[in-house]
Amino acid sequence: MNSRIPEVDQNLCVGCGFCAEAAPNTFALDREKLALVLNPGGDPEEAVARAIAECPVAAISWQE
Ligand code: SF4
Repeated sequence: MNSRIPEVDQNLCVGCGFCAEAAPNTFALDREKLALVLNPGGDPEEAVARAIAECPVAAISWQE
């Protein structure tokens, strides 16, 4: 299990879908095409870290 949990700020998300490609078991797009966390431990931390690093609007972060 991953020690860190990602969260998405849907107010920032522009629905590009990158996070759901980088970590498909962690992130999904909802009906409004905004990202949400499906399963915080769904993918290796490296995949989640890639989604965080490459989200164009920095909408994903690790929970404090
Ligand atoms: Fe939204 Fe960022 Fe995920 Fe793109 S990568 S869908 S902007 S949270």
